[in-house]
Amino acid sequence: MPHPVRTLGAVTVASIAANPPDLVVRIPDTPRVGTVSAPLVAADAAADLLAGRRLIVLTGAGLSTDSGIPDYRGPDSPPRSPMTYDEFVSGPTARQRYWARSHIGWRRLGSARPNDGHRALAVLESVRVVRTLITQNVDGLHRAAGSEAVIDLHGRIDQVICLGCGDLTTRLDLHHRLDDANPDFAGHADVRTAPDGDVELEHTSGFRPVDCRRCGGVLKPDVVFFGENVPRSRVEQAYAAMDGGDALLVAGSSLTVMSGLRFVRHAARLGWPIVIVNRGITRGDPVATCRVDGGCSEILSTLGGSLRI
Ligand SMILES: [Zn+2]
Repeated sequence: MPHPVRTLGAVTVASIAANPPDLVVRIPDTPRVGTVSAPLVAADAAADLLAGRRLIVLTGAGLSTDSGIPDYRGPDSPPRSPMTYDEFVSGPTARQRYWARSHIGWRRLGSARPNDGHRALAVLESVRVVRTLITQNVDGLHRAAGSEAVIDLHGRIDQVICLGCGDLTTRLDLHHRLDDANPDFAGHADVRTAPDGDVELEHTSGFRPVDCRRCGGVLKPDVVFFGENVPRSRVEQAYAAMDGGDALLVAGSSLTVMSGLRFVRHAARLGWPIVIVNRGITRGDPVATCRVDGGCSEILSTLGGSLRI
């Protein structure tokens, strides 16, 4: 039985715009092909638009697909619904299912490497073209590529938080504890990995999760689940970081959750040039200056080559 991702239901787009919620929820009226949109341009035209600007970059799952991490919202992705926050905290059975699948997925995430898109953004930061990188990805690949000015909007999969006492520990430490507690849980080689490190795995009833060493509380990956708030302080940090830029580049996000879309709207209110690089349409298209349709690795490499000079 798939677990539905919550949507905003009858809430109107106008009311969302007036009062953006913190909840990470999928917005139901993502524009379809043929709706009002920014013009499609080639990468060199987008580079001309951004030349001489201080870039704020917003990245999403589409950036990591070339690193072998599938984008479950992309046009070619299999239908999939990640676990919601409410479900995770609903009781031990849901947590058992989550941690069993996540434990397998973590091994795969751990072997993922940055691609040309991550590297192009890291180079642009080193020459002060990119000022801040706000990412919806939790895979850590921006830092692995060398980016330092990173705001992890949806948290980091390499960290674990205790819901009881707030203790932050490393995922690697938890991984070893889970291995020790589940010595016979292995051999699930043919499963898909999702951007949050989760995998599709049917038989999880024998898996034994572990609890906080300090207080015995429930452990959760330090990532924002669907239906959960992005911490207010992190949102404010991202808005504040935008003060240091004057153009927005969106890469690999279809902007179907408000947590990212609000920064695009903020840039639009400021009158910034907005370039969106993505395969397929996005919810930010109506306010973008232009968009480039295609894969992030290739297009960001082209943009990087033009902008770092
Ligand atoms: Zn604790």
